[in-house]
Amino acid sequence: MPKLSDVRRALDELYPPAWAESWDAVGLVCGDPEDEVARVLFAVDPVQAVVDEAVAFGAQLVVTHHPLYLRGTTTVAADTFKGRVVHTLVRQGVGLIVAHTNADHADPGVSDALAEAVGLRVTGPLIPDPTDPAGRRGTGRIGELPAPEPLSAFAARVAAGLPATAQGVRAAGDPDRLVRRVAVCGGSGDSFFAEVRAAGVDAYVTADLRHHPASEAREHADIALVDAAHWATEWPWLRSAESALLAVSEKHGWGLETRVSTHVTDPWTAHAPMSFAPTTA
Ligand SMILES: [Zn+2]
Repeated sequence: MPKLSDVRRALDELYPPAWAESWDAVGLVCGDPEDEVARVLFAVDPVQAVVDEAVAFGAQLVVTHHPLYLRGTTTVAADTFKGRVVHTLVRQGVGLIVAHTNADHADPGVSDALAEAVGLRVTGPLIPDPTDPAGRRGTGRIGELPAPEPLSAFAARVAAGLPATAQGVRAAGDPDRLVRRVAVCGGSGDSFFAEVRAAGVDAYVTADLRHHPASEAREHADIALVDAAHWATEWPWLRSAESALLAVSEKHGWGLETRVSTHVTDPWTAHAPMSFAPTTA
């Protein structure tokens, strides 16, 4: 059976911490590197429901995409929600490893899994990492559909390819506009509109699109926008990370058992369809 330190090394090779943004907090958050690991749970968010799921699964390690702590803290007291997570993990002998922007920038990374989930063939990164001589790593991905299709069909394809959330999928643009070449960015992608325009795509799939960036992007250029829940755009990566770790486990004969969390940890839990148009009276 591998030690936590062995699994940590394997994950560090798949998603090198050096590839993370300077503001990020990735790597081992808690756990004893000397502990043995038999079961690993993959999840987007290090929240209590996920930690409880890990305990029920009998996991010794949770791998999450989002950090538990991004900035310094002065307490892990169990009456804070993050401290409760830390206490549960430590008491139950479960380690936590975060692979965040290092997983975004990896090849394959978070946006590769998103592109694949919606049926795109990836042709390269949206923003290439200058330190990668092969030009494959970077932020976001550019991909192509096998054949052009109207935006209405493309939005339905995105909705069908991602795990369901209350938000659903929103689209901006003429529903008949043809879509073939697409930029994708798992998570919040509304700071990359300049690169999306430069990429010459028909549509951009990402999450967390706010009013002003989205409105200005639509005024700037006829690029359709497709907005899904942040959690849903990153969840496909969990399967990719799971298979990558299982391949390492097989190579070393570790016999790891793994599971991808099915808890929908998107904070939005309901969607009320609206029924009246604005009027002057
Ligand atoms: Zn995210």
